Amino acid sequence: MKAVVCTAGGTAVADLPDPVPAADEVVVEVEACGLCGSDVHAVEQGQTYDGHVLGHEFGGRVVEVGAGVDRGLVGQAVAVNPIGGCGRCAACVRGLPFRCSVPNVGITRPGAFAQYVAAPAAQVVPVPEDLPLERAADAEPLAVALAAVRLARVHPGDAALVYGVGPIGLNAIVALRLAGVERIVAAGRSPGRRAAAALMGATDVIDTREVSVREHAEAEKLSYAAVLECSAAPDAVPDALGVLGPGGVCVEVALAPHAPAVPLFPLLSEGHTLVGSCAFDAPDYRAAVDHLVTGRAPTHELVSEQVDLPSTPDALHRLRTPGELVRILTRPQRVPSTV
Ligand SMILES: [Zn+2]
Ligand SMILES: [Zn+2]
Repeated sequence: MKAVVCTAGGTAVADLPDPVPAADEVVVEVEACGLCGSDVHAVEQGQTYDGHVLGHEFGGRVVEVGAGVDRGLVGQAVAVNPIGGCGRCAACVRGLPFRCSVPNVGITRPGAFAQYVAAPAAQVVPVPEDLPLERAADAEPLAVALAAVRLARVHPGDAALVYGVGPIGLNAIVALRLAGVERIVAAGRSPGRRAAAALMGATDVIDTREVSVREHAEAEKLSYAAVLECSAAPDAVPDALGVLGPGGVCVEVALAPHAPAVPLFPLLSEGHTLVGSCAFDAPDYRAAVDHLVTGRAPTHELVSEQVDLPSTPDALHRLRTPGELVRILTRPQRVPSTV
């Protein structure tokens, strides 16, 4: 099969043997896989190894099953939860399966920037035939946002701020709407991404180069129940805490490289909570699939480009400076299986 592999200089298309399912696994013919910021980061920082296949936001069709898996699954359209988990270790019991030693598809075991990928049967979620199968790739980033919003403890009628409108921030807007949050303020810089924020349901969209989140909150007399910090900007955490109402929650969702100063006095006197959110659990993933299937999540509107496997290394490179680009999907079946 064709796959995009990590190399010393970046990524390249290569021929790899077709995956063989273990007894409890299936092989999925990949219909679509999202190119994630974490993939771009891993390639850029050299946090991969030669020959590794990334790609963890995907769906496709089961084409083969292991000896211990129901043969009835063959032909089934599925979204695949990339996060493994034994269900028994301390991390799994605490709802943090991504910290389990079971590998994650496209992160610590071969992923879906390939025509075929093997995954544990327990991680596939069937989707109906009337869902365009490429939309299954949207379940993973939506699950990330659902987990973050779960930790934000928001209620219908609350106001929330989404700080940073990259793909996760945009999915967070969708997740906040699904949670019934009424006033959703999105703060970002890229005009294209701010337009996407409005499309996803933000009620106010601000350009942080023109107005700070504090100025906007003061002018609008807003006291946020939650801030979803998705920007990794150096001052984002103190800014976020500065606009939270009493008892508010700041959820850090961005991979911030620096150590921001956290003002501890208001943290305690206002009863704020600062919490990190990474990945999601299996119920979050199933909920994300359900929202896509029932048409409640317009995340397909975020797809700026769809590329084939030979164009994927270049697309990963271009996402280093995304500009107006929001989301790119790779479509591995657009490559002939034998060349
Ligand atoms: Zn991702
Ligand atoms: Zn575990």
